[in-house]
Amino acid sequence: MYTMRPAKFEYHRPTSLDEAISLLGEVEGSRPIAGGHSLLPMMKLRLAAPAALVDLGGIPGLDGIEGNGDLTIGALATHASVLTSKIAVGIAPVLPETAAMIGDRQVRNRGTMGGSVAHADPGADYPTVLKALGASITATGKNGEREISADDFFRGIFDTALEPGELVTSVKVPATAAGTGAAYLKHAHPASRYAVVGVAAVVSVENGNCTSARVTVGGLTAPPAHVAVESLVGSPGSEEAIAAAAEKVPDSLPDPTGDTYASGEYRAHLSSVLAQRALSKAFERAT
Ligand SMILES: Cc1cc2nc3c(=O)[nH]c(=O)nc-3n(C[C@H](O)[C@H](O)[C@H](O)COP(=O)(O)OP(=O)(O)OC[C@H]3O[C@@H](n4cnc5c(N)ncnc54)[C@H](O)[C@@H]3O)c2cc1C
Repeated sequence: MYTMRPAKFEYHRPTSLDEAISLLGEVEGSRPIAGGHSLLPMMKLRLAAPAALVDLGGIPGLDGIEGNGDLTIGALATHASVLTSKIAVGIAPVLPETAAMIGDRQVRNRGTMGGSVAHADPGADYPTVLKALGASITATGKNGEREISADDFFRGIFDTALEPGELVTSVKVPATAAGTGAAYLKHAHPASRYAVVGVAAVVSVENGNCTSARVTVGGLTAPPAHVAVESLVGSPGSEEAIAAAAEKVPDSLPDPTGDTYASGEYRAHLSSVLAQRALSKAFERAT
């Protein structure tokens, strides 16, 4: 039976990271909450029933977006603040472009970077793009801080490398170098805007020829998967070469996930169409 009321829970609002980590270690059945845009719907549907919520919203200093060579985005930075960040546009422009595609204005104003990566929804956009860009996630727990590559962090459907009691505190994204172009495109679910399939392409070009090309596909497998597009290396990235390479993308991703909205076969087709468009855009940006 569905209900729109969550089960009873305690509510804590720590004012420091240390306090939040202590609470998560001490209060049995506790869970962090940030924007609440994934956790609260789950609680209302009784898919989650934490005994206590530890609200991260009162912790200062976790919502910054800083550029110091790389881009560092605090866990509490909302999707709206990523999409309007001039620093992010200057360092890794595909990330604010991705933020602009998430949900609707309300979701973007509440949802956070940390919540999105910790939740690891197979239809989420950031995991695909963060993997494509070679980002890393900083997790902080009672034993201190550790940095985990996005490749190791995202493990499967709603499954990450976070240990119990650990919090995502920031995400680090390498700067997109000159001569490198990145693009992300998705087929959005018409109701939620989640990615049915999302494809990120990253291409590097030197003296007019491609030196590396890779696409990362989300929504087809969990976690998002990389596909090396070797056939484009050494080529100037003609329309025909891109189309031929994109057509082969689904071959590297056997057993695509399907559901009532989109079969695995349809998603595989989408991955090829989106890969073609994303690669073309990435080439344009690299040259
Ligand atoms: C209608 C709708 C449409 C949406 N469309 C999209 C979309 O198109 N693309 C997309 O990518 N997403 C979409 N989302 C998801 C949205 O981006 C969520 O906000 C996001 O996935 C979770 O972020 P949050 O801050 O709301 O996290 P919360 O809901 O607060 O938490 C989510 C999970 O992460 C944990 N958590 C939160 N913060 C941390 C932290 N710092 N460290 C460790 N664990 C933490 C919580 O315990 C919980 O398990 C949509 C959501 C809705 C409701």
